Amino acid sequence: MRDLSPPDLATTDVREVSRSGEDALVIVVGAGPAGSSAAYHLARAGVDVILLEKARFPREKVCGDGLTPHAVHQLIRMGVDVSAPGWTRSRGMRWVAGEHRVHIDWPALGRYPDFGLSRSRHDFDDILARHAVAAGARLYSGWKAERPLTDRAGRVIGVAATSDSPDLPEPVDFRAPVVVAADGASARLALAMGLERDPRRQIATAARRYYRSPERSQEDYLELWADLRFPDGGPYLPGYGWIFPVGDGRVNVGLGALPHRRHGKADLRATLDQWLARTPEEWGLREENAEGPVRSAALPLGFNRHPLYARGLLLVGDSGGMVSPWNGEGIAQAMEAGEVAAESAALALAHPEGPRREQVLRGYPVEMNRRWGRYYRLGNTAADLVFSRSGFQPVLNRYVMGSPFLLNTLARLLTNLTDTPSRDVVDHLLNTAFRLVPSPKPGARGSGARSR
Ligand SMILES: Cc1cc2nc3c(=O)[nH]c(=O)nc-3n(C[C@H](O)[C@H](O)[C@H](O)COP(=O)(O)OP(=O)(O)OC[C@H]3O[C@@H](n4cnc5c(N)ncnc54)[C@H](O)[C@@H]3O)c2cc1C
Repeated sequence: MRDLSPPDLATTDVREVSRSGEDALVIVVGAGPAGSSAAYHLARAGVDVILLEKARFPREKVCGDGLTPHAVHQLIRMGVDVSAPGWTRSRGMRWVAGEHRVHIDWPALGRYPDFGLSRSRHDFDDILARHAVAAGARLYSGWKAERPLTDRAGRVIGVAATSDSPDLPEPVDFRAPVVVAADGASARLALAMGLERDPRRQIATAARRYYRSPERSQEDYLELWADLRFPDGGPYLPGYGWIFPVGDGRVNVGLGALPHRRHGKADLRATLDQWLARTPEEWGLREENAEGPVRSAALPLGFNRHPLYARGLLLVGDSGGMVSPWNGEGIAQAMEAGEVAAESAALALAHPEGPRREQVLRGYPVEMNRRWGRYYRLGNTAADLVFSRSGFQPVLNRYVMGSPFLLNTLARLLTNLTDTPSRDVVDHLLNTAFRLVPSPKPGARGSGARSR
């Protein structure tokens, strides 16, 4: 496959900026998976797009670095060569609970590849940004969006951004009729436009650290531990631990947890230490092999901010609270939403400014709701009623762990891997269950689909 990457991102990220400002048809704020995907698909549709990123690539991002077949699917749609060196393939997941260790291969579906991947976000985000640039997006890295620019009606018409260069101390206006907020969990742009978080939705916290572990670095399963406890024999952690191979002699090890119904926030650092002390010595998950500190960040789950479109601003990825409430996965979701937002913006811009354009932009939350509304609604309920009490313990009991069929069904539920129309009995079961969930109404709180 042809690699679309330009040879050197540095040649494109230091751009000349006019002090009177820059104009484009779309401004995308943030070049994580959501922003780079949106910019890539917009550029491919021939739309003049500026991608603003406050950091400079390559840069770290606190993450588990694990990619399910959903994310691989999105990478392939962006023309990323996932057979190139640097990607670590996974055949499936290994779940550990009590004395059970089970392997569940990724399913062979019509819609998705049958393998997952892992790659450090240090490389991953750089690769995606390069693809956006190769497709024609204008990347400005080292530029931080400070505030939205609005017209008299309160509609977004761009952002004021500052450069990290001491030669450019004053903010510069970046103007466009459509702005995409892809600035991550802090969601500053959305907040500045009054788009508050739904307080009923859970926010998980996750922490990760890299360890040198040649023994585990080339593993072909993503390993998940479901029987972790709060420190000193406390209750089960409302989440899980992971050990993901990064392929370069290291593993990414971490924990993610919801706030516990009774015990509140987990001390992730202490839980991580106690857990890793249980792992075999030869895996190398010990202090002397650690690289860098334990770092943590928030995971906004289950469409926790709405509306996803308002007054010229589209929210994608973590800024729209799109992390799956079922498993904490957010990269594939960010990339898919980036593609859908790009399609909506490109279609909208085919109409002159006015009600028809607005109507097309309002279609974005409706489409996101169509794709994930029911699934997330069910997931939010599971997070509230089950995962935030006892993590995965109740569902990964010994009956489920001993039944390949139940395990496979559960794995596909947690990772949203089904074919539609249904091709096998698991598809039938899951697709029927999703259909039975009432669709969140556009406009309802928590649906993520209300438009103004
Ligand atoms: C510990 C941890 C482990 C995780 N593990 C996984 C995993 O294994 N698999 C998975 O699928 N998901 C995982 N997630 C979730 C995943 O990291 C996020 O869902 C994903 O990064 C969301 O992508 P995004 O593009 O929306 O936001 P981000 O990746 O956060 O990107 C936002 C970008 O915007 C930039 N930015 C922010 N503000 C501004 C501004 N004002 N101006 C310009 N630029 C700005 C930032 O620098 C950043 O580059 C994990 C999360 C955590 C915290």
